[in-house]
Amino acid sequence: MTLKKMLLIVCDGLSDRPVKEFDGRTPLQAARKPAMDALARNGINGTMDVIAPGVVPGSDTAHLALFGYDPYKTYAGRGPIEAAGVGIRVSPGDVAFRCNFATVDKSLRIIDRRAGRIRSGTRELAKALDGMKLGDITVVFREGSEHRAVLVLKGQGLDHRVSDVDPHTEGKLHKSKPLVPDAKRTADAVNAFVSRSIEILNAHPVNKERVKSGLPPANVVLPRGAGSISSLEPMTEKYGLSCAAVVGVTLVKGICRLVGMEVPDVHGATGGLDTDYRSKALATLEQLKTHDFVFVNVKAGDVAGHDGDYRLKVSVVEGIDMMLGTILREVRDDVVIALTCDHSTPVSVKEHSADPVPLTISGGGGRVDGVREFDEISVASGALGRIRGTDLMPIMLGMADRAKKFGA
Ligand SMILES: [Zn+2]
Repeated sequence: MTLKKMLLIVCDGLSDRPVKEFDGRTPLQAARKPAMDALARNGINGTMDVIAPGVVPGSDTAHLALFGYDPYKTYAGRGPIEAAGVGIRVSPGDVAFRCNFATVDKSLRIIDRRAGRIRSGTRELAKALDGMKLGDITVVFREGSEHRAVLVLKGQGLDHRVSDVDPHTEGKLHKSKPLVPDAKRTADAVNAFVSRSIEILNAHPVNKERVKSGLPPANVVLPRGAGSISSLEPMTEKYGLSCAAVVGVTLVKGICRLVGMEVPDVHGATGGLDTDYRSKALATLEQLKTHDFVFVNVKAGDVAGHDGDYRLKVSVVEGIDMMLGTILREVRDDVVIALTCDHSTPVSVKEHSADPVPLTISGGGGRVDGVREFDEISVASGALGRIRGTDLMPIMLGMADRAKKFGA
């Protein structure tokens, strides 16, 4: 018996509902996708409630479930995942926040929550805040994409149960409040950080230059979504697999790092609509040479869903199909391949929905059912039936001959 390799491809938010402009077909049904259909024809198929029936998954909780971690036990806020996504090492006991660079006037009213969607200079601004000391608490601060950033507080006795400074709308800056008595020290530290950030950022040359050019200065940081992590058993130990991720989007990169995957930089993998599908395919093939398990995420379908753009969604399906075709041409039958979504983002809803997602698993000399096409409806008659997200890894491990025997 040879241990087979495993490849999991997740099409973020690609799963959908009937679109009237397509005569009631979904974007997956309306698109031309020979590679996806070939995969479905050569394997077993079904639908999947990524978390549980009737639960609308976030991309973060969904990916935890797909990697075999119970999100109800392991998820404690988005902050730590974003922090890991930008490369900060988050430890149990730290409290992490997602942040915006924003603009406040002299009376501390927020006049732009995204500082004019600032694109350049945030690295320098972040450097000016990184390493700040608040008593015996140390600040780690890093810029993200555009106006986004991440704050991590490191020190003794911190607690993530504090309210947001970000009021989530234009208006007066909020003070962070402890939601439990134990979190007072953390809320005080957050408020001290925000006051100091206003002083430091107002005096910073990047902002002086912005004001001179008539742009809103990025003169405050708005923390939100506080979270902490319990330590997650890395996938390498949980499954005995060496794991790599081919991912563009920061949030999913963060989850991959938290579960112990290697996350190489992939040229052209942007996590957006302009992602380079060919480059992702080549990176996947490269990682498969040296790892037992490779995970690929393509974010673009979710973006098209949130935009409510059904034509764009079809073109994303066709882009992913091209990527998959490039992979399938090179991969031999000793790789177990699963193709699925982390959640549905129907163009008619423009948000995530609780609709189950399609799933196909093939390769490794495994069983084949009668399903001919990969879409939300065709897969439902397949041999996998309707499963949950946390069932996926055990099923793949079984097909890869990596499952452990129970009993004699
Ligand atoms: Zn989404």
